Amino acid sequence: MELRRVRLPLVDPFASSLGVETERLALLVRAVTPAAEGWGECVAATEPLYSSEHLEGAEDVIRRFLLPMLASRPWSSAGELASVLAPVKGHRMAKAAVETAVLDAELRASGMSLAAHLGAVRRRVASGVAVGIASSLDALVDQVAAHLDAGYLRVKLKIRPGWDLEPVRAVRERFGDVALQVDANSSYTLADTRMLAALDPFDLLLVEQPLAEDDLRGHAELARRIRTPVCLDESVTSARVAATAIALGACSVVNVKAGRVGGYLEARRVHDVCVANGVPVWCGGMLETGIGRAANVALAALPGFTLPGDLSASERYFPTDLTPPFVLDDGHLRVPEGAGIGVDPLAEVLREVTVSSEWVPLRGA
Ligand code: MG
Repeated sequence: MELRRVRLPLVDPFASSLGVETERLALLVRAVTPAAEGWGECVAATEPLYSSEHLEGAEDVIRRFLLPMLASRPWSSAGELASVLAPVKGHRMAKAAVETAVLDAELRASGMSLAAHLGAVRRRVASGVAVGIASSLDALVDQVAAHLDAGYLRVKLKIRPGWDLEPVRAVRERFGDVALQVDANSSYTLADTRMLAALDPFDLLLVEQPLAEDDLRGHAELARRIRTPVCLDESVTSARVAATAIALGACSVVNVKAGRVGGYLEARRVHDVCVANGVPVWCGGMLETGIGRAANVALAALPGFTLPGDLSASERYFPTDLTPPFVLDDGHLRVPEGAGIGVDPLAEVLREVTVSSEWVPLRGA
C-alpha cells in the first residue's frame, strides 16, 4: 500500500465549515496487488472542522493501526475489511480510503466497474453546486448566476446565524423557482426554530443538518415544527444511525458521503435503508479530486439518489485535476464505465502535486 499526499491549488478559496481553503491537501491510498492497482482518496480536511477527523490524524491511523491490522488478520476481499478493521473505533474517513483502494484493485482485477458493483442504474448523474458564505448578497447572486449559466441543476447555499434569510430571499427573488436548498452544518439550535420556520415560504428542497451532529431528538422536534424537509449529513455515520434517524422522524432526506460512513459499501447500505423507508438520498461532496469524484459519481448512479448531488465539474474546484477532468454535460456528469473507479491519475500531474509518498508492505494478507 502507498500513502501519498498531494497538494492541489483550488480555483478560488472555498469558504465553508471546512474553513477557508486555498488549496486541497489530500491523502491518496494506493493498493498494489499482483493483479491490479487500486486508488482511494481520504476526504478528511486539514483541520477537524467538519468532523473529528483530520488529514494527518487519518494518515497516522492508517499507517499505525489499519494497515498493520490488515497485515495480521486473514481476509480475502474488500467486503471483509469493515469487520477486520472494526476493532478500531471511528476513523471512518481513514477506513473508507483503505477500503476503496482495495475495492478498486479488486474490481479492476475482475474487470467490473464500481458503479456496476454498487448497483448503479444510470449512465449520468444530475449535478448540483454548493456555494459558500459570500462577502455580500451581490457577490452571492453573481456566483449563483455563473453556476446556473454553466448548467448546474440545483444550488445549495451554506447558511449560518446572520447569513440565512437574506441570502435565500435574494437568490429566490433573482432566480425564481430554481432548485434550491441550504446547509447549516449544525450551526443552529432548537431555540432558532422560529427563524428556521421563516424559511418555509421559500420552498426549499431541504435544510441540511440544522442542529448538532448528536441531536437526533432535536432534529425530530424541529422536523415537526417546520415545513422544509430536514436532511441529515454529519449525524448519519452508519446505516444503523440512518435507520434510527428515520424511525425517530429526525429527517426525511439523507445526504450520503462514503467517507463519513466508512466506505462505499456502507454508503450503499445507507442508501438501501433509505430506499426501504421511502427516504430520498443524494450524494455529498468533500472537495474530492477526480479520484474521489469518480467513486462518488458511481455511488450517485444508484436508484435511490433521486436528488442532484454536490457533484460538480472538476473546473469548479481545480485548475488542473488529478485525473482527466469531470465535465458538465447538460447539467450532468457521466458515470465512469471502466473497471473499478474507472479513472486513473494523470502521471505527470500526480508527480507535480505529490508532497510525500510512503510504502507500507502488507505481508501475510
Ligand atoms: Mg453538509
